[in-house]
Amino acid sequence: MSHNKNLQFDSKCVHSGINDYEFGPVVPPIYQTSTFKFESAEHGVALFKGEAEGYIYTRMKNPTIEAMENAIAELEGGYKALGCASGMAAISTMFVTLLQSGDHVVCSKSVYGPTMTLLHTVLSKFKIESTFVDTDIAEEIERAVKPNTKIIYVESPANPVIAITDLEAAAKLAHKNKALFIVDNTFMSPALQNPFMFGADIVLHSMTKFLNGHADVVAGIIVVKDEEMYSKMRKTLNQLGGVIDPFNSFLVHRGLKTLSIRMQRHCENAQLIAEYLENHPTVKWVRYPGLKSHPNYQIGLKQHSGHGGMISFELKGGFNAGETVMNNAKLCKLAVSLGGVETLIQHPASMTHLTMGEEARKSAGITEGLVRLSVGIENVKDIIDDLENALKKIPEKEMVG
Ligand SMILES: *Cc1c(COP(=O)(O)O)cnc(C)c1O
Repeated sequence: MSHNKNLQFDSKCVHSGINDYEFGPVVPPIYQTSTFKFESAEHGVALFKGEAEGYIYTRMKNPTIEAMENAIAELEGGYKALGCASGMAAISTMFVTLLQSGDHVVCSKSVYGPTMTLLHTVLSKFKIESTFVDTDIAEEIERAVKPNTKIIYVESPANPVIAITDLEAAAKLAHKNKALFIVDNTFMSPALQNPFMFGADIVLHSMTKFLNGHADVVAGIIVVKDEEMYSKMRKTLNQLGGVIDPFNSFLVHRGLKTLSIRMQRHCENAQLIAEYLENHPTVKWVRYPGLKSHPNYQIGLKQHSGHGGMISFELKGGFNAGETVMNNAKLCKLAVSLGGVETLIQHPASMTHLTMGEEARKSAGITEGLVRLSVGIENVKDIIDDLENALKKIPEKEMVG
C-alpha cells in the first residue's frame, strides 16, 4: 500500500487497503469462508508457526477483513487495525487486553453509555476501578489520576452535550503518569480528526456510525501504533472472539470510499442547522463544535479540521416540547444511532433515558428538553424545513419555559 502514502486524504479513502486479487477485481472480493485449505501438512505447520504468509481460519485472519483493516489503519495514520463485531467488541477487547486486577481507569463522564456500564459493572468484577470525570477540564483528569492508573479514556466530541476534550493535554497527562491515552474517535472519523497526531496510543471507532455511514452494519475497530500492541491485541481478540465478518467488512470498506465527501456535507449541513437552531425562539441553547458559543470552541479548532455532524440542543418547553418535536419530524427519522447519510433525531428524556427517571437523568446531565440530531447528507433546506415544521407545533405556552 506504499503507493498510497503521498495521496491526499480523499484519494486515500478511495484507494486504501486495495490489493491485487485473482482475476483483477478493483475491489476486494468477499472471501465468505470460515476456513482456508493448506497446500500440504508442511504448509499448515509453517502457517501455524508464523513462518509462512497466509490464512488459516477467519476468526484469526481473512483477506476481506484485512483489506478493510489496512484501509482504516492508513486513514488514521496507525500501524495496523483490528476489525471487531461492534464498537463495544472493540472497546471491551481493548480493555481486557490492557488491564489486570488492581488497575485504575480515568474515563470521560460523557462517554458512550455502554462503555461506562462496561467499566462500572463488568470490569469492576475483576477489581478494575474507574473514575469518571469531566475530561473537557484538564485539571479534573489530573486530580483523578492515581499511581495505578493505566488508561485515560476519552471521546471528543462526546454525548450528551458534544463536550470537547483537549486531546494533547490529556495525552501529556497520561504519559506523565505512564498510562496509555485511548480515544474513541467515532464522532469525528479520521476525515476530521487524527488522535494519533495529538499523542493517542490507541484509536477506536464504532464503524456502525460515520465510517460505514449507511446505517446497515454494526461493527467496530481498534487502531494501534506498533507491532507489539498489535500482536497483543490480536491474541486477545482471537480468544474473546468478537471479530467482524467478511461481508460486513466489505460493506464498511465500500462506505469508506465516500467518507471524505460525506463528512464534508455532514459538516456543512450541521453548521447551517446549528446556526438556524441558535436563532430559533423555542430553543434555549445549542451545542455544536462549530458555534463560537461552544465552551471549548478554540480547542476544537486546534484538533479537528471540521466540526462534524452531531448537534445537541435544549428546548425551552422541556419534556413535552421534546415529545412534540419527535412526533412531528418527518424527514428526520426518529431513531438512536448516528453517522448515517440520513438525518436522525432523538429525545433522550422520552426515549433512551426514559426509564432512568427525571432525577437520575438530571445528575447524568440529560435535561428534559435535550434533543440530539445526527445531521445527514440530505439537502440542508429540506432538513431545516422539517425542523421548522416540527418546532412550529410546540404550543405557544411551552415556548417560553
Ligand atoms: C455507537 C457508539 C459506540 C458503540 O458502538 P456499537 O457499534 O454500537 O457497539 C461506542 N462509542 C461511541 C462514541 C458510539 O457512538
